[in-house]
Amino acid sequence: MPHASNIVYPDGPDAPHAFDIVPLKPRNGTLDAMCPVCHGHGEWNVEIDLVSFRCKRAICDRCSGAGWVETGDDPVGFPDIELAPNGQPHWVTNYIPREDVDEEDLGGGNLLAP
Ligand SMILES: [Zn+2]
Repeated sequence: MPHASNIVYPDGPDAPHAFDIVPLKPRNGTLDAMCPVCHGHGEWNVEIDLVSFRCKRAICDRCSGAGWVETGDDPVGFPDIELAPNGQPHWVTNYIPREDVDEEDLGGGNLLAP
């Protein structure tokens, strides 16, 4: 027997049902403000069945899924890879002064705590 379904395709964070059953992210203590794009959710539905609530989600590229962003003059953390002294690459966080980061580059920063 087929299951009933009512699938909708929200086309962005402002669409109806975009945040249905998407929880708010807990605020990371190093981040200042709710993300202006995803309003603290970090992700939104791009497809959701309003009957079963099975869904597919997109990660917010403004806050990289954190739901919260850095504001003001705090340095902005960007992910990077460096070679350790033993020659192995490893992830590091480079903190860039806020005034040196373009608005359109902010989405690449605002990291979750390493
Ligand atoms: Zn966001």
